[in-house]
Amino acid sequence: MADSIRVTVWNEYRHEKRHPEIAAIYPDGLHNTIATHLRAEGFTVRTATLDEPEHGLTEAVLAETDVLIWWGHMAHDEVSDEIVARAKRRILEGGMGLIALHSAHFSKIFQTLMGSTCNLKWREIGEKERLWVIEPGHPIAQGLGEYIEIPHTEMYGERFDIPAPDTLVFISWFEGGDVFRSGCCYHRGRGKVFYFRPGHETYPIFHQPEVMRVISNAVRWAAPSGGPEVHFGHIKEPLEPVG
Ligand code: ZN
Repeated sequence: MADSIRVTVWNEYRHEKRHPEIAAIYPDGLHNTIATHLRAEGFTVRTATLDEPEHGLTEAVLAETDVLIWWGHMAHDEVSDEIVARAKRRILEGGMGLIALHSAHFSKIFQTLMGSTCNLKWREIGEKERLWVIEPGHPIAQGLGEYIEIPHTEMYGERFDIPAPDTLVFISWFEGGDVFRSGCCYHRGRGKVFYFRPGHETYPIFHQPEVMRVISNAVRWAAPSGGPEVHFGHIKEPLEPVG
């Protein structure tokens, strides 16, 4: 059913335009690197970026999106509250899932879904990261080994100020001694949210097959599963006769 899942890869797309060393890694923007991989997996993929009208996330685009992937870093504040509210509504209604990558921990959409600061420790000295799969039966871990190694990356360390995940799929160890909850699953309303830590823009992380395997798996997991409609409020008539 992979070919029926419609993915929108959103990127603020600023670093790649301003820093030649980042453009060298992601010449068409990291959203297009991710999109190309996901198309090869059989997903229906479009991209959207901050500087497009409505950030590329019109009502029509969201209505045709099963999973929204979000990468942002330097321009979180430039994202319109109205568009964030629009995306949040679709997630809570069960229309789409969200995958928040790396520095999207500080994105408005992730913060509002978490209800916490989402703050963390960080350090950029190119240290090694090892992400241990701690929930091997989870669909997001499908096809992986016991761990993924990223040879050089920016470190994110605990405390990561998030609510306890419904399911924690990965824990990262860093060469410098820090640890981090790096693959976090949540249910919000009828929708699903996955936070995945790797993806710093100065390293070729979205060219790494195991990383893209996780993202593909997460797309399948986060897509709407077709569960029941939910009804809230006063239910006047009981299902069975009472009294
Ligand atoms: Zn980073």
